[in-house]
Amino acid sequence: MTIPQAPTPTPDELAALRQRYRLERERRVRPDGARQYRATEAEFGYYAADPYVRDVPEREPMHDTVDVAVVGGGFGGILAGARMRQQGLERVRIVEKGGDFGGTWYWNRYPGIHCDIESHVYLPMLDETGYVPEWKYAPGEEIRRHAVRVAQKFNLGSDALFSTAVTSLTWDEASGTWIVATDRGDAFRATYVVTATGTLSEPKLPGIPGIEDFKGHTFHTSRWDYAYTGGTPDGGLTGLSHKRVGIVGTGATGIQVIPMLAEDAGHVYVFQRTPSTVDVRANRRTTARDVGADHDGWARERRENYLRIVSGETAEQDLVADRWTTSAGLLEKLLPSFRRQGDRKAFEAAYEAADAAKMNELRARVEQTVTDPDTARKLKPWYRYACKRPAFSDKYYPAFNRGNVTLVDTADTHGIERVTEHGVVVGDTTYELDCLIFATGFSVGTSGIHSGKLPVHGRGGTQLLHAWARQGPRTLHGFTSNGFPNLIQMGSLQNASSVNFTHILDEQAVHAAALVAAAEAEGALIEPAREAEDDWIAALAKDAPDHEWFHAECTPGYYNREGRGRPNGPTAYPHGAFAFHELLKRWREESMGEILQTRSSAQSS
Ligand code: NDP
Repeated sequence: MTIPQAPTPTPDELAALRQRYRLERERRVRPDGARQYRATEAEFGYYAADPYVRDVPEREPMHDTVDVAVVGGGFGGILAGARMRQQGLERVRIVEKGGDFGGTWYWNRYPGIHCDIESHVYLPMLDETGYVPEWKYAPGEEIRRHAVRVAQKFNLGSDALFSTAVTSLTWDEASGTWIVATDRGDAFRATYVVTATGTLSEPKLPGIPGIEDFKGHTFHTSRWDYAYTGGTPDGGLTGLSHKRVGIVGTGATGIQVIPMLAEDAGHVYVFQRTPSTVDVRANRRTTARDVGADHDGWARERRENYLRIVSGETAEQDLVADRWTTSAGLLEKLLPSFRRQGDRKAFEAAYEAADAAKMNELRARVEQTVTDPDTARKLKPWYRYACKRPAFSDKYYPAFNRGNVTLVDTADTHGIERVTEHGVVVGDTTYELDCLIFATGFSVGTSGIHSGKLPVHGRGGTQLLHAWARQGPRTLHGFTSNGFPNLIQMGSLQNASSVNFTHILDEQAVHAAALVAAAEAEGALIEPAREAEDDWIAALAKDAPDHEWFHAECTPGYYNREGRGRPNGPTAYPHGAFAFHELLKRWREESMGEILQTRSSAQSS
């Protein structure tokens, strides 16, 4: 894997860019950092309410016992359930806040919604279900339906609890089971618990003064109000035809929504703070032949190939060949496999030159598409490619050539300054609006057992986050922790991550199910020794990448804790997801017995 080749910018050009990037960062960094946002709770709870279930069906609280409780019914939870079923587990209960399976794809149904990871590698279990997507990048509804398809195939609905939030997990030493409590009065028992609560699941709002005063209609993109806008995710938003619509946010979501609003709304005001990079999308219909879906295991091979490339490993062929894979060298710059390429200074210089060439190409794309020079100037991104999540669209820039779309740049005022009863204030101008839509993203790390909102009481009543308070998180491979038997954590903490997160989740599900199957076979508990956690943390620390040098110079966003830089240290496996999966496979073959403890000795220890 090499960094993409492009004409090398001169040293003077690079120095000028560095200076420009610094200035653009300074325009945006705010002293309140991540505190600038508001959670969609209490008086803002309306923004997080489930628009798809008007009346939650009544049911009796559950007090029974299941084999496995899975917290979360998105792809992580569904895959955990499916892999458990494949291991022969009968009573698998998924508990999900939403009214059905799907997670992100249940909640996000905004117009234009698509996945920008290729559908043939993003949709899990294609081999198992025989489903072959027909578009390179699938629409959200197809993905949501696939989530339901997988859940149905493994009969996960029969025991699931929807519109239900888990409120605590408590280990009961005497019975060797977990007590799972929920906001619907359930208190059932489970031999094993898998937590799959997602990473970007709680919508957030900007803490703009006056936001509560707005008298027009308002909602967050992850809770799209079709009753107001009319139409479907495919468009036809007839309810907006005479409306003045404001949209705040131009991240991966805003990029997809804005062209759809432009088609149907009376007038659209796009409130932008930082422009995204918007690369070529080239969505197209695909045939089974195009994607090599002609033999068993084709989907597994394709996604392994993709993961290899985006993890910085070498591959003979690039099967997906899109802008993620061809830009992988710029996105995975922090992996040791890249940093090892010769001398570090030389690597960083080559990286900077390649990055500048890529960003010049993206800025040129704006100029070539957007006809008004002032709008084009404002849409150009000035930071390094990997500072923010890249976006892809062939419809976004052309939307700004329409007479009914106005771009309002808010960088100088650090975002929208004020919301009034009738609209939005930026600088000297008030924009009167009928509808204000927030495409302002999600709180990072504020849901699930690592956030404190879902307390986990392990052996002796010890709370997970209290146990970690002094020395930081302690796990083996990110999945299991001493003192918390039979609890399996999914997610990227001390585990691995990748742009194709469903692949990561599936590997995690396979691992979780293998642990459970081994424990069942031995009549044992799953619990790592403290020494195993120490060894894992040491292994993570040994090659931990120094993110600081890169992220400290980035424009703010959730990648760098709103400008504060990314913490160094052992937060994830440093050699990439592909290598991590190899490591897990080896460990399951050679060492899995180490984590199993006989029930009697473990319970008395
Ligand atoms: P993001 O957090 O990426 O974007 C939020 C946007 O809101 C940013 O443009 C931000 O500006 C802007 N914003 C926040 N506060 C203000 C303010 N006060 N005034 C003006 N603008 C403001 O959220 P998204 O929902 O776009 O994306 C979240 C993640 O979801 C993505 O990063 C991606 O991982 C995932 N996603 C994936 C998709 C896929 O196809 N696979 C599609 C959509 C989302 P600023 O940048 O200046 O902070």
